Amino acid sequence: MSERADQQSILDRAAAGGRITPEEALDLYRSAPLHALGAAADAVRRRRYAGIEHIATYIIERNINYTNVCVTACKFCAFYAAPKDKAKGWTRDLDDILRRCAETVELGGTQIMFQGGHHPDFGVEYYEEHFSAIKKAFPELVIHSLGASEVEHMARISGVSVEEAIGRIHAAGLDSFAGAGAELLPARPRKAIAPLKESGERWLEIMETAHGLGVESTSTMLMGTGETNAERIEHLRMIRDVQDRTGGFRAFIPYTYQPENNHLKGRTQATIFEYLRLIAIARLFLDNVAHIQGSWLTVGKEVGQLSLHYGADDLGSVMLEENVVSSAGARHRSNRMELIELIRAAGRVPAQRATTYEHLVVHDDRANDPVDDHVVSHLSSVAIEGGTAHPELKLIEAN
Ligand code: SF4
Repeated sequence: MSERADQQSILDRAAAGGRITPEEALDLYRSAPLHALGAAADAVRRRRYAGIEHIATYIIERNINYTNVCVTACKFCAFYAAPKDKAKGWTRDLDDILRRCAETVELGGTQIMFQGGHHPDFGVEYYEEHFSAIKKAFPELVIHSLGASEVEHMARISGVSVEEAIGRIHAAGLDSFAGAGAELLPARPRKAIAPLKESGERWLEIMETAHGLGVESTSTMLMGTGETNAERIEHLRMIRDVQDRTGGFRAFIPYTYQPENNHLKGRTQATIFEYLRLIAIARLFLDNVAHIQGSWLTVGKEVGQLSLHYGADDLGSVMLEENVVSSAGARHRSNRMELIELIRAAGRVPAQRATTYEHLVVHDDRANDPVDDHVVSHLSSVAIEGGTAHPELKLIEAN
């Protein structure tokens, strides 16, 4: 059989629901025709979501960056400040955080992503206090936040086991873990960009522990910092193996490295084609992960639309606030109506979803469309008029 015929027979097997090996995935990722890859991935998506395959989802959330002070100094990160850098470092107080939660609820948000640096003083107690205060004031808000790296750090600071740390923050109000900190899981690229972070194996071990304790998560991948194609597929293999045991990863979300304001200058960003190929191969290879998310924030809205035809079923969030990848140069912003229209223009019916992917509102009738299309600028002006603007909120304005 020719190489093309061989690849097509693997794609046909995957499209029909068969599992593909890491070697087959690497071969397809490297050289299968882009459209054949996308067609097979889209077939898998349509089969998995038969009956609702015409829908693509989004969520309304707010990232709350509670501190940028961090001891881990990842080389790709443009967000953090070293603890001794008092001029650059900041930490929000609880009142500020609760005000941001209140704005989120007011604007129709259902989820907050608590995201920040590895502060040298923040142990389990800090998160217990904050999560319980948020849940007490806003029981309807889902706290989908943190990840294995933060848990490892807070457990170390408090001198407790990771199991205890997860159990305590879950009891205090954490609903699920975001896939933060996965970056690249294989050892070589991980050490090159995040030498002080836990190993990829440890990241997965902590996620497996969380899944065992009833705390589900998403999973992510940072593309374009110099990793090889084989290392990208190895990252997927590591996730698939854990997922076979736990079933706790709700989604896989690749996003591309943003090259500004960090210590990795000169590295190559992943191209749009590499990104779309990765979305497609993730849908084909991760046959045990339900949702593949297109990440328009870093690759742009049009590529986000294309991702819906390469296996993605979700287009992420209308983010009421985002600072981490924006600090590194991500320039793409959206509001709710724009995202709804982007999904429609891609040929899908948009649906606002919950953190656990249930459809909350299906936008199948323009007559019922929401009228909140200036959410981002509204929030920025609220924060600045209130006299509590942080530098990163000004960054939202600047963009
Ligand atoms: S990516 Fe996270 S852990 Fe790494 S330096 Fe930035 S804030 Fe710290």
